Amino acid sequence: AEVVHLIAAGEVIDSLASVVRELVENSIDAEATRIVIDLWPEHWRVRVADNGCGMSLEDLEKAAMAHSTSKIFHREDLWKITSLGFRGEALHSLAQLADLEIHSRAKTADEGNRVVYNALGDVVETETVAIAPGTVVAVSNLFGHWISRRQGLPSPGQQLKAIQNQIYQIALCHPQINWQVNLDNRAWFALSPGRTPQQILPQIIRNLRFGDLHYSTLAVELESEDLQPCTHQIGLTLGLPDRCHRGKADWVKVAVNGRLVQIPDLERAILSAFAKTLPRDRFPVCFLHLQASPQIVDWNRHPAKAEIYLHQGEWWQEQVKNAIAQALRLNPE
Ligand code: ADP
Ligand code: MG
Repeated sequence: AEVVHLIAAGEVIDSLASVVRELVENSIDAEATRIVIDLWPEHWRVRVADNGCGMSLEDLEKAAMAHSTSKIFHREDLWKITSLGFRGEALHSLAQLADLEIHSRAKTADEGNRVVYNALGDVVETETVAIAPGTVVAVSNLFGHWISRRQGLPSPGQQLKAIQNQIYQIALCHPQINWQVNLDNRAWFALSPGRTPQQILPQIIRNLRFGDLHYSTLAVELESEDLQPCTHQIGLTLGLPDRCHRGKADWVKVAVNGRLVQIPDLERAILSAFAKTLPRDRFPVCFLHLQASPQIVDWNRHPAKAEIYLHQGEWWQEQVKNAIAQALRLNPE
């Protein structure tokens, strides 16, 4: 209980896109390699199915309780977060704001369970079901009892755009996962890593908006002496200067340990690294993924977890600038 008071609670669920984000992040934390998302926006319904570790009946009974998380046990754990979720708020909020039902079968179990939750997050219905290992979370009638929240939201079309962007952004950080997205029972789009996970990044960036650019990808290993010696990795995918897009704005995304984040100083460093090589009418396209030791990241700067601090920020800026300079000299893949 002490731990939960250290965590700044935020409004987790404010749209269909945020439902998708929270459910998908849970699937990724469960180490899923395949995620199927079904959307029925008119019915305010979302279903996310994964082939992750699944949950036992006992886990299911706790999953939607207030501050229920299997990911943090001690105060010290807050400084070494590697999972995407850690506040134990998403399922509890969803139980409050929508009808929530989960099917799940743990990897090692012979059968699965289907449970239905009430608004408090208590299980009110249980039955055993024959399903493949993994989890299916179904959220329907979102904001059904909170109609004013629905009225405050953008049109269904704009929400779909937001959902698609949300999925692309998460997929950028998890290129090893197979994604299938269905809209009103029909295939909408899919992303699959194919034989080489690196190929998915240009595919997503292309879908995001930039057409057929040529990309350079680069991975750099780094050693640092922060609190203790650690190894980090910088992964870069960037548009090459002569092909970078014209007449739009910059597209620079930064992820740390699987999550898109904002680190304003680092973003400025990226832009300055491009500035030397880009013609005036071209804008950078760059996705930077830092796989860094979790102690160097302070996730608790912002309740929505978007803006973070990196310890030794200036050292990181230098490393990233060097990596970009190197990637810009390479040929397209
Ligand atoms: P958090 O992700 O912050 O721990 P959530 O409310 O999102 O909190 O989820 C509560 C718990 O339910 C998780 O800690 C996890 O143990 C379990 N859980 C949720 N979704 C899944 C899933 N798709 N597969 C396996 N376990 C899950
Ligand atoms: Mg979660």
